[in-house]
Amino acid sequence: MQITANNPERKSWLTVDKDSDFPIQNIPFGVFLTKEFITTIGTRIGNYAIDLGALHQLGYFKGIPLTEDIFMQDTLNDFISDGRKTWRLVRNRIADIFDLNNTELQNNTKDKEVVIFNMEDVEMLLPISIGDYTDFFSSKEHATNTGTMFRDPENALLPNWLHVPVGYHGRSSSIVVSGTEIYRPKGQTIAPNATQPTFGPSKLVDFELEMAFITTDANHLGEPISIDQAEEYIFGMVLFNDWSARDIQKWEYVPLGPFLGKNFASTISPWIVTMDALEPFRVPSPKQEPTPLPYLQQKGNNSYDIHLQAAIKPENKKETIVSNSNFKYMYWTMVQQLAHHTVNGCNVLSGDMMGSGTISGPTPDSYGSMLELSWRGTKPVQLVEGGERKFINDNDEVIMRAFCKNENIRIGFGECVGKILPSK
Ligand code: CA
Repeated sequence: MQITANNPERKSWLTVDKDSDFPIQNIPFGVFLTKEFITTIGTRIGNYAIDLGALHQLGYFKGIPLTEDIFMQDTLNDFISDGRKTWRLVRNRIADIFDLNNTELQNNTKDKEVVIFNMEDVEMLLPISIGDYTDFFSSKEHATNTGTMFRDPENALLPNWLHVPVGYHGRSSSIVVSGTEIYRPKGQTIAPNATQPTFGPSKLVDFELEMAFITTDANHLGEPISIDQAEEYIFGMVLFNDWSARDIQKWEYVPLGPFLGKNFASTISPWIVTMDALEPFRVPSPKQEPTPLPYLQQKGNNSYDIHLQAAIKPENKKETIVSNSNFKYMYWTMVQQLAHHTVNGCNVLSGDMMGSGTISGPTPDSYGSMLELSWRGTKPVQLVEGGERKFINDNDEVIMRAFCKNENIRIGFGECVGKILPSK
């Protein structure tokens, strides 16, 4: 089935700024609360939130096999379970409804009143109920930087890294939507040269510039997903700030890996941008040497050219952009991650989320965490209005942005924002 929604010539009768992340070619999916306290599934064009529950009730999705209440829910999980064919049909139909040449809704003032809201009048909610969250470690630059800092510059990558998309199981209960404030975590840490740990607020709160993909029900327990099939089961992507307390992490992680240094909060952007919308921005992933085992060998271009940005905004001050990275730097691709995740028969469900791992680029200004940007605190990052940061201070806001751009269109993710409050 053709993705007619992606036609770059298409224009909407809704006003869209030239630099908007949300032209009619994007059509992401999210969940929002209206002023009347109604929770609904929706999409966004320009600065308008569109109530898909209302559109469906009014009959605009006629002919598409959808249950009556599919959009009148507080998560996207059931819609995601409907599968790629349905996502595509719905996206194509939304593009048609809001196309400049279509007057059906455009000329229906009564319907427009219940379907279209200003973004300022809605509150974005977490778009999915995340059953399981897995975090990978798939940027070679990030793995090399951390290996250089904490182990041995000569052997920065551990022997498994070039063979296995390394990952761990995270915690989903503390994943929050953009805009949610985060309390500085407390925990056990150990001072350099000390023999006993102490307890208190983390001194080294950091961000991790990541993206995450959301899956649909993919496989039964015991049945792997082949790499050639993997794409079928990826619904879309969000921006992802995987907050980390480096001092807690450092003390606790041996031998079982990340725990309380990671699970106090992770922030995602509210709109899930579909893989269909990202289709025009496919690019090759980095060449893999040595060649991975056969179950990880991929065909075609499986990465995406997505510009990534992280900024720090101290209270009442201007923001400083501290990193410009790109999703295309990722060594292991999403299809490799999903094939690897299920190769042992592990089942993946609708609404599961897989983090990419911190995405660092090749240059120091493209590193995806303060740990790397300030090189463990040895090179503080200068702020535009004075002051510097080694890590994140109380009342600092971290703002992440992501977008794709070619000569025709810009498809973006909006912002993923979180503020660190003093410990409770
Ligand atoms: Ca992470």
